[in-house]
Amino acid sequence: MRETGLRELVRLGANESAFGPSPKAVAAMTAELPRLSWYGDPESLDLRDALAEKHGCAPSQIVVGAGIDDLMGLAVRAFVAPGEPALMARGTYPTFLYHVAGYGGTPVYASYRDDGRPDIEELVAVARGDLARIVYFANPDNPSGHFVPRDEMQRFYDALPHDSLLLLDEAYADFVDEAELLPPVFEDRLIRLRTFSKAYGMAGARIGYALSTESNIRTFGKIRLHYGINRNAQVGALASLQDDAFTENVVGETARAREAYYQLARELGTAAIESRTNFVCLGMESAQRATRVMNELLLRGVWVRKPGAPPLDSYIRVSAGTEPMRRAFAQALRAVLETL
Ligand SMILES: *Cc1c(COP(=O)(O)O)cnc(C)c1O
Repeated sequence: MRETGLRELVRLGANESAFGPSPKAVAAMTAELPRLSWYGDPESLDLRDALAEKHGCAPSQIVVGAGIDDLMGLAVRAFVAPGEPALMARGTYPTFLYHVAGYGGTPVYASYRDDGRPDIEELVAVARGDLARIVYFANPDNPSGHFVPRDEMQRFYDALPHDSLLLLDEAYADFVDEAELLPPVFEDRLIRLRTFSKAYGMAGARIGYALSTESNIRTFGKIRLHYGINRNAQVGALASLQDDAFTENVVGETARAREAYYQLARELGTAAIESRTNFVCLGMESAQRATRVMNELLLRGVWVRKPGAPPLDSYIRVSAGTEPMRRAFAQALRAVLETL
């Protein structure tokens, strides 16, 4: 907004929820505000109890953090010594790389395939060859939106070296059925990351959690910031877990938004990558053209982003919007494409 001097933007660039947080979460957080002078529960016990019930595990197998980005940093700090290899698909969600670089790990890479999917075979080969200490994988993936179904994910997990740790980023898990995800296994070589930022619409509250073994969770406990979780966020997260109807509605609206973007792509004759997330990548033919489209859209008050690394850098990535937001996006995109 500052760059363009606009007073309002159609926010479709950060995969935030266009459908807001649950009204029950807002009410609970509003009621909690007068107690802002108190620290939050350093153990997030009420929330962990509710999450343990949801996931059929013990509270001791859960740690709450200030979003996945926070937990990802703790995982790198805890499990990657300086110089040790940390593996990811080049161009995937970037925060993992930031932490690896920041804590002195050595990033090693696999690629995306030409169809925009992370190359699982290459990830396994590089993990074995480079003895990767930690392997980062997002499922569903950002920025492609691609989802690896349960059987394939299980084969991937089994094929990884058993002394590598799989850091499985499930930021978009709420948009797929639990039965489609890797089964709930609790092993030292698996840490799963979940968030209230996407389907629950609480990105600004900064709250997420990791699921793993009690031993790994104890390790997080040694290094995490004790009072790092906003007490209001704890209360809001707990309330939103109790509002399934709201979350189901968001998931349904999000699926509708994806369909609308596929339909738009068909009308425009551009490629769209099938997504199981709250965003869709639309093909703009070249990286240069995608950058131009993104910048031109911004000048028209529509904020989208684009992936940075090939082969996905020729796409723009647009978040699921409400119907009016989608209409504004479609209108601006048509206008921009006419000028190119
Ligand atoms: C949005 C997103 C995150 C960030 O989650 P927070 O809980 O808000 O930190 C992490 N990973 C992926 C793949 C994401 O798309």
